[in-house]
Amino acid sequence: MVAVPIGTVRIRPGKEKQLVRRHPWVFSGAFDSTTEVPDSPGVVRVEDASGDFIAYGWHDRLSHIPVRLLSWRLEEFPDVSWWVDTLGSSVKRRLDLLKDSETTAIRLVHGEADFLPGLAVDAYGDRIVCIISARVAWDHRHVMVHTLQKLLNPSIIMVMVDSSFGGVESLKDAFETYVDAKLRVDSTDEMVHCLEHSIAYQFLLGKGQKSGFFCDQRDNRVRVASYSTGKDVLDAFCYSGGFTFNALKAGARSVTAVDSSAPALEMLSRNLALNMEKGNLPKEIESRVNVIQADMFEYLRTVDTDVYDMVILDPPKLARTKNQVDGALRAYKDLNRLAMMKLRQNGVLASFSCSGGVSREQLRTVLAWAAKDVGREVQILETLGQGPDHPIRLSFPESEYLKGYVCRVL
Ligand code: SAH
Repeated sequence: MVAVPIGTVRIRPGKEKQLVRRHPWVFSGAFDSTTEVPDSPGVVRVEDASGDFIAYGWHDRLSHIPVRLLSWRLEEFPDVSWWVDTLGSSVKRRLDLLKDSETTAIRLVHGEADFLPGLAVDAYGDRIVCIISARVAWDHRHVMVHTLQKLLNPSIIMVMVDSSFGGVESLKDAFETYVDAKLRVDSTDEMVHCLEHSIAYQFLLGKGQKSGFFCDQRDNRVRVASYSTGKDVLDAFCYSGGFTFNALKAGARSVTAVDSSAPALEMLSRNLALNMEKGNLPKEIESRVNVIQADMFEYLRTVDTDVYDMVILDPPKLARTKNQVDGALRAYKDLNRLAMMKLRQNGVLASFSCSGGVSREQLRTVLAWAAKDVGREVQILETLGQGPDHPIRLSFPESEYLKGYVCRVL
């Protein structure tokens, strides 16, 4: 069977520039008025106003991004074998990371940055989780599951829809589990285990569970912990304890781990017990951890000033859309200002933002506003970002989302 596009999308003059530079998203405003889009989803030819080929893309009128470009080569039609090869290449690029026996939580596919729209794939030991944020990835999940099974032979593959995209992608919340690439009829919640820098983590995945573990912070946890020896540390927004455990391992005098979510803190406590039991962390560290359930904005207002030598601020995505950026900047400023107030002389602040809409420069501006407000001088010691298994594709700037600074607050 010869693979042919199901239609053609012609782009209005001037709107093709980004697409030619290989940005993969086409919004309907870029469609020429003569374009008649097919009803059912499938591969379309995308061409400029003079009819010259730009790329093949996946068209789906129910997606908030109606065309997602896949291949910019006329001779490379994105059929099923394209998906198999593209996924295979993405996994191959991580083979070195997959060999590390001290770390078994690795992102195998980082969406568009790995040329696979709306698909994140994480390996946790012998289990794999596919997180879907676009209809095109949902439609191709079976080929993804078969390919992953063949390449890595995991004991189970879970496929879940990222609920924050369900609305804009007209996708229902879903959680499927596959064993030997066959769909299990009753998908139950699954306990997942992994190691990161020889520290063990366990978490539950399933219906209504979040993505589980933030492996994008892997290297930052160790970098940040290197400043914590002998220090009193606040791990603000601690979730399952990644920064807390690394700071304890590096010899922090005390770590106060704060999060508003009871399930997250239960996970942290379970992980702490697990690591002490396995001997990954010495038993005596228990007396050095203080776990507190609180809203961070309130907590930072009630705690005394000058009580910490180090504050780690890793809040959730505060801007989900472009419209929310201004409000988010105010919230980041508030958090950083309060954190600086609580730091002793020459204290260290590790401040992160995982909001795609907030740029690295904006986070830096927020730090400058906060420093000015509290009347302290601040030095940037390190600039941090997402780990190498979350690559940033130059032609797709949206793939950069995690930004961080390690600062000294004088
Ligand atoms: N630092 C963590 C990841 C943080 S994710 C790690 O290394 O794994 C963000 C966390 O912020 C979540 O655990 C969420 O429960 C928590 N959170 C969200 N809003 C909060 C608030 N207002 N106060 C405290 N915690 C909050």
